[in-house]
Amino acid sequence: MITLDTPASQLTRYGKAAAARLKDLELRTAGDLLRYYPIRHDDLRTVVAIRTVQAGDRVTLRGKIELIRTRRSFRRGLAITEALLRDSTGTLGLTWFNQPYVGKILKPGDEVVAAGRAEEGPYPLHLANPTYEKLASAELTHVGRLVPIYAATHDVSQKQLRALLRLVLPLARHLPDPLPDEIRRGHRLIPLEAAIRGIHFPHTERELALARRRLAFEEFFLLLLQLASARALVHATPAPSIPFRLPTVKAFVGQLPFRLTDDQRRAAWEILKDLGRPLPMQRLLEGDVGSGKTVVAAVAMVNAAAAGFQSCLMAPTEVLAAQHAATLKSVLESRGVTVGLLTGSSASQSGGATTRRRLLAAVARGEVPVLVGTHALLTADVHFHRLGLAVIDEQHRFGVTQRQRLRTAASGQGGCMPHLLSLTATPIPRTLALTIYGDLNLSFLKQRPGNRPPVATERLAPDDRDRAYAAIRDAVAAGRQAFILCPLVEESDRLGVRAATEEHRRLTTGLFADLRVGLLHGRLPGKKKIEILERFRSGALDILVATPVVEVGVDVPNATLMLIEGAERFGLSQLHQLRGRVGRGHYPGRCFVLTETDNQRVRQRLDALVRTPDGFALAELDLSLRGPGALAGLSQSGFVDLKLASLNDLELINEARTAITQLRTQDPSLRQHPVLRAALARQDAHPE
Ligand code: ADP
Ligand code: MG
Repeated sequence: MITLDTPASQLTRYGKAAAARLKDLELRTAGDLLRYYPIRHDDLRTVVAIRTVQAGDRVTLRGKIELIRTRRSFRRGLAITEALLRDSTGTLGLTWFNQPYVGKILKPGDEVVAAGRAEEGPYPLHLANPTYEKLASAELTHVGRLVPIYAATHDVSQKQLRALLRLVLPLARHLPDPLPDEIRRGHRLIPLEAAIRGIHFPHTERELALARRRLAFEEFFLLLLQLASARALVHATPAPSIPFRLPTVKAFVGQLPFRLTDDQRRAAWEILKDLGRPLPMQRLLEGDVGSGKTVVAAVAMVNAAAAGFQSCLMAPTEVLAAQHAATLKSVLESRGVTVGLLTGSSASQSGGATTRRRLLAAVARGEVPVLVGTHALLTADVHFHRLGLAVIDEQHRFGVTQRQRLRTAASGQGGCMPHLLSLTATPIPRTLALTIYGDLNLSFLKQRPGNRPPVATERLAPDDRDRAYAAIRDAVAAGRQAFILCPLVEESDRLGVRAATEEHRRLTTGLFADLRVGLLHGRLPGKKKIEILERFRSGALDILVATPVVEVGVDVPNATLMLIEGAERFGLSQLHQLRGRVGRGHYPGRCFVLTETDNQRVRQRLDALVRTPDGFALAELDLSLRGPGALAGLSQSGFVDLKLASLNDLELINEARTAITQLRTQDPSLRQHPVLRAALARQDAHPE
């Protein structure tokens, strides 16, 4: 018997490989599968008469298999399965390439529904590789209905996923519903079981809409409730008042190798003012890539150190954490401020390696005023002597709870809570930030520091690739460095490892055999990544072939050129983030975006990137190009973790907010709502 907790690996008859891929999708149990919502539905309900089919049509047909056979093609040894389908109006061929098992599943006389594209040539009019299903089953799953389409499936086919969902769907009635009954009814929402059935296998558009509304409400409800509890905690707890040390800040700013921009000064001042108050600061510093957010955070940390408080900075990856530690060390240690680094795989103090235990002991004694790290900072054995300020870089890469946990885990000295500063390059409109976060304060960095010109961007067709290579060679000859970014070739290759490895091999054995070319991708162990990035930063490598997932925040001022392969696979904001990696030093940056498709929409999008240097404008454009549902882009960027809901659903957000206010007055501790409490706890356990 299967239950919600049955491991996905035991459900599938597709073997170990499929189970591993399901795990990649974080689908570990039957229950996880139920919560893996489709991204859309294809409407394959309309069955047409065979007689009316014309080449180029996408059609769904229903009829009887008259004959079926599989043969090998002479030239390439491909298995070709051909069948003839008859309905009351005529017959049409069905053809499958290299799917010989189709010939075993379908037999003459079988009633089937088949959907696909009608093609002509080299064979007469036929459906090529159609999706099919026998009418024997009680209810159609793959054709002849609103068919669920799932997102990234990593080699698990849509058909396999749908079959798995069919299998586990009866378990939907055992899913505990986190929404309290009275709230669900009060907001006219359907029960969870009906919603789960309706989101996967709806019979009508209305059923789908009701399911979506119910599940989207649930997402907002849980998210806002979580934020509200975090906020309540913050409001109930004092923060240490960190006095403004003017001479220290002045001296620090004075020794920087550049002048702060007006925006940086204003932001720093806003932060320093907040730190002086005995209430926990909640500030988000928004600034485009390369706008210089780090140094603003450094000002705050220097001030805290001078006033006798510790600070910590949490970054999303080991590479970024190591880079921040190095940068901060270079500007802080001359001022007597020790910088520690703690990641999953390493610990160092003042740049020298040490053991985790020694570092933590020093931190607990207050001897390390600035501790930089990854989410390793959140582990239970990290204790500060006197933490005054917690900084989170690239805040959207962390879950809501991790962000809160950084300060709660770190608090506990005299019941005080540290101030919190979050840095982000995601352009979040003010109104939206307020809708979600309520009392969050915002600072903006809009100027480009150091009068740097925008990164000159060019769109290239595959034939122009040599031009990019020539430019890279010129740049290297002039002493500069270049990035070559490889996309994810296919969904199964989520980290793009294959593409990058292949490209690296191709270039090092061919065109750039005489240059020093490094390879950086997400599957490398943390230490190795840091080492390679360090070699690139120090100039020991000319070219870095990398996957985009690896690093967005890296700072290599001598890198001036970037070639982005498969640019169509990225959103505009992401492309902008990526190109922001070059031209950060004294030399202007240049970026080639290369695409192999000649899809006009892709070209338009990339041309917008070429024309528009401003990340905030691009984000808006990206959203508008994607049509309504625009702001959903922000949820995809991780600003909030929403699977189904879109930030466009303002009405639903407000309904959820009303429901929460009601709930919190009736049952502030959620004592009477154990299922809801459990759901929030699960959300807390956000893996990352
Ligand atoms: P981001 O906002 O993307 O995190 P960084 O903080 O990494 O940007 O800064 C990008 C680069 O700009 C760094 O090399 C930094 O030293 C430099 N920088 C920051 N502020 C200024 C400034 N006012 N003038 C010149 N360069 C600056
Ligand atoms: Mg940064």
